[in-house]
Amino acid sequence: MFQRILVANRGEIALRVIRACQELGIGTVAVFSEADRGAHYLDLADEAICIGPASSSESYLKIEHIIAAAELSEAQAIHPGYGFLAENYDFAEQCRDSGIEFIGPPQEAMRKLGDKVEARKIAMEAKVPVVPGSDGLITSEEEAVRVANEIGYPVLIKATAGGGGKGIRPATDEKSLRTELKAASAEAEKAFKNAGVYIEKFVQKPRHVEVQVLADQHGNAVHLWERDCTMQRKHQKLIEESPAPKLPENVRLEMCEAATRLVRTSGYFNAGTVEFIVDQDNNFYFIEVNARIQVEHPVTEMVTGIDLIRQQILVAAGEKLSFTQDEITSTGCSIEVRINAEDPDQGFRGCPGTITDLIIPGGLGVRFDSHVYTGYRISPHYDSMIGKLIVYKPTREEAIACMLRALNEFRIDGPGIKTTIPLAKKILMHSVFRNAEGDTKFVERTW
Ligand code: ADP
Repeated sequence: MFQRILVANRGEIALRVIRACQELGIGTVAVFSEADRGAHYLDLADEAICIGPASSSESYLKIEHIIAAAELSEAQAIHPGYGFLAENYDFAEQCRDSGIEFIGPPQEAMRKLGDKVEARKIAMEAKVPVVPGSDGLITSEEEAVRVANEIGYPVLIKATAGGGGKGIRPATDEKSLRTELKAASAEAEKAFKNAGVYIEKFVQKPRHVEVQVLADQHGNAVHLWERDCTMQRKHQKLIEESPAPKLPENVRLEMCEAATRLVRTSGYFNAGTVEFIVDQDNNFYFIEVNARIQVEHPVTEMVTGIDLIRQQILVAAGEKLSFTQDEITSTGCSIEVRINAEDPDQGFRGCPGTITDLIIPGGLGVRFDSHVYTGYRISPHYDSMIGKLIVYKPTREEAIACMLRALNEFRIDGPGIKTTIPLAKKILMHSVFRNAEGDTKFVERTW
């Protein structure tokens, strides 16, 4: 087992990883940018090393600085968290080349699955349903027109290297397809240095359901059931839950088994998420793999009782999974609300500032994963998420009631600070959410 792990991230996920390490008796090294200097979670690590100025390209994304910090502190492994370098296979490779274990999947699987066209091919090979679309990259305008005519409009043009909701453009007819294709390709080249695009049928009013998977380095792969992340705003998830409400049991099982097959086919190990969209008739289609831990992992932990960060560390250390698929049961219902410091009246722009008053809710079944406290300064340099409120109850109805009660208790104040709590409450009270009749555009349409 590792003696020391460096956490190559910040904020709530850095704290989450430090906590898991401490419970395993593993020493921790935190890294921080100048903007995060003095944050309390850094005191919990055995060592904290400054890796550069506020700008993430000069600090949390600076591969050489992070590897140097690991060498200096004699850390044997690096946990990347989510975001920043978590899905960067150059980083994974450089860690391993330096004799430091990267707590994540093998580089080859990361590289293949990070490319959406490649990932689609692997999914097809694993007999996992994909959205009808082009066989591979689009090589000419005429090919695009032919594919779109075959599958029918509307279609989506997607960048093969896309991510974070960027690089996706709809086309409703041949004329818009021709113009959007050029724009999409140019945009992809600019944003991802890869102009490759492909075409998918636009699935009407889908739900977003994803499956948590876990695989060790000895060929064992399991799934830890699904999460529903349909409540999104501009492709950013707002509320996540497990199990997915109103998903027929046979569909749920098929989807989870498909995710495990895909993991086996791609030679993947460690934790990952296989994302699907589900149409109005409960047909599911693979869209992508997230080769890392996800923000919403706690809802899976609550319903299965399995600590996913702990499992990531054990797998990276070469241990075998200590449970079989049959031993992983999902009981009760868990819901997570992301609390972002954003101003809904300013187009949900981040609103940095110092927290002067903070009251965190509690009670049976309430968990708050966050690094903030009274006096904490929310930095303008990073993501606006300041914490995740998670509840766990026997039924969905009770979980919704508990979440609303907890959000009502929540107080976070400071000059200029606004949060997404009021929006979360509106969603939780809405009959569409309560009846699980929403689709991924419900929030944008309604508010
Ligand atoms: P990214 O990697 O940028 O997150 P995804 O491929 O995961 O891109 O898609 C992001 C979101 O776009 C999905 O969660 C879903 O809401 C929507 N989406 C993706 N593909 C389709 C599709 N074929 N039809 C309808 N909506 C889609």
